[in-house]
Amino acid sequence: MTSLCMQQDVSLRDKNTLGLPARAERYVEITEAGQLFDLERSLAQKSTPLLVLGGGSNLVLDDQVPGVVARVGIKGWQVLLDEPNTLLLKVGAGENWHQTVERTLREGYFGLENLALIPGTVGAAPMQNIGAYGVELKDRLHSVEVFDRESKQLRTFSCADCLFGYRDSRFKSVEPDRYIITAVVLRLSKVPDLQLEYGGLRSELAGLQDPTPQDVFDAVSRVRRSKLPDPEVLGNAGSFFKNPVVDQKVFIEIRDVYPDLVAFPEQEGRWKLAAGWLIDRAGLKGAREGEVGTYEKQALVLVNLGNAHRVDVEAFAAHVSREVKERFGVELEPEPRFYP
Ligand code: FAD
Ligand code: NAP
Repeated sequence: MTSLCMQQDVSLRDKNTLGLPARAERYVEITEAGQLFDLERSLAQKSTPLLVLGGGSNLVLDDQVPGVVARVGIKGWQVLLDEPNTLLLKVGAGENWHQTVERTLREGYFGLENLALIPGTVGAAPMQNIGAYGVELKDRLHSVEVFDRESKQLRTFSCADCLFGYRDSRFKSVEPDRYIITAVVLRLSKVPDLQLEYGGLRSELAGLQDPTPQDVFDAVSRVRRSKLPDPEVLGNAGSFFKNPVVDQKVFIEIRDVYPDLVAFPEQEGRWKLAAGWLIDRAGLKGAREGEVGTYEKQALVLVNLGNAHRVDVEAFAAHVSREVKERFGVELEPEPRFYP
C-alpha cells in the first residue's frame, strides 16, 4: 500500500470550481481505500477535522481550511456482473463523473446519458443523489462502498440503505462526515431505456424519430453548454439553491399573482417551484454585488466574477434569499456545502 504523503498549506483555488482562494492547513491525496485506515488513525489522535474532497464543484470554501483535506483519487472500473440485459459496474470514487458517463456509452452500457456533463467525481455523486433531466443517481445505482470512520471498517450500502431523497442522502444529511465513499456500483442497461419526459430535453430532441442514448447525451450536453457557465472560465458551483417544495396553498397563492410560475407537482399535493424562476422574477437575473453575481443566462447559478471569497458568496446568497422571501414568502436553501 502506498503511504500517505501529507502536504502543508496547500492552495485549493484550482481544486474548487467556484475558484475561491482557499488554503488547506494539510492536504493529502488518497489513491487506495487501504490508506483510509492510516488517515483515520492519524486524525483520531488529535481530533483533527477532515474535509473529504472530490472535484470541489459543490463546495463554498473559507480562506483557511483547518485540519486535513483529503482528496479522493481512487480509480477503478470493474464489471461485476454481465447479464444479457443488465450490467453491474463498479467505478472508483476518484473517477471523473462525466468521463465515466462517456465511457459507459462507448462500451454500450446505457442509463447515465441524462447525467452528462455534471462536474465532479463518481464518489461525490451519491452525496446529493445527483440529478438532471429527469434522472437521479438512485435510478441507476446498485450499491455504494464506503470506509466507515466510526467502526473503522469497509462497508457496503444497498441503494435503499443510502436513504436517497431530492439532492439528499444518508451521507449528506443523516450521518454527515461518517463515511468516505470509495466506490460506486452502477446498475446499467445493455438495451437503451430512454428517459425523455423532461420538457427541456424533449424539445431539444424534437424532430428526431428514434433517439439513441448518444443523441440524448449530445442533447443534454448541448443544452448544458448553452445555459451554464464553464467553471474554467467563470467560477461557479452549479445551481446554488435547491428548488423549494411548498404545499398546495402556497403554490396557489403565488400562481394567482404570477400565472407564469414554473412549478411541478410532487407527492402528497406538494409543489416544486423552480428556484431559478423565483430569483429571475425577483429581478436578480444578472445582478451583481462586488465580486459575486447571478449568471445572466441562468439566475440559479451564482458566479465568482474574479476575486470573491467565501464571505462575499455568503453575503450575496443571503441577499438573493432575502429578496425571494420578501417577494414570494418562500425560503431558499443553498445546495452547496459551506466549509468549515
Ligand atoms: P465536492 O464538491 O468535492 O464535494 C461535495 C460534497 O461531497 C462535500 O461535502 C464532500 O465532503 C463530499 N464528498 C466528496 N467526495 C466524497 C467521497 N468520496 N466520500 C465522501 N464524501 C465525499 N449537481 C447535480 O446534482 N446535478 C447537476 O446537474 C449539476 N450540475 C452542475 C453544473 C455545474 C456547472 C457545477 C459547477 C455543479 C453542478 N452540480 C450538479 C453540482 C456538483 O457537480 C455535484 O454535486 C457533484 O456530484 C459534486 O462532485 P464533486 O466531486 O465536485 O464533490
Ligand atoms: P430547466 O430545464 O430550466 O428547468 C427549471 C427547473 O424546473 C429545474 O430545476 C427542474 O427541476 C424543473 N423541471 C423542468 N422540467 C421538469 C419536469 N418535467 N419535471 C419535473 N421538474 C422539472 O433547468 P436547468 O437549470 O436548465 O437545469 C436542467 C437540469 O439540470 C435540471 O434537472 C437541473 O436540476 C440540472 N442541473 C443541476 C445543477 C446543480 O448544480 N444541481 C446545475 C445545472 C443543472 P430539477 O432541478 O428537480 O430537475
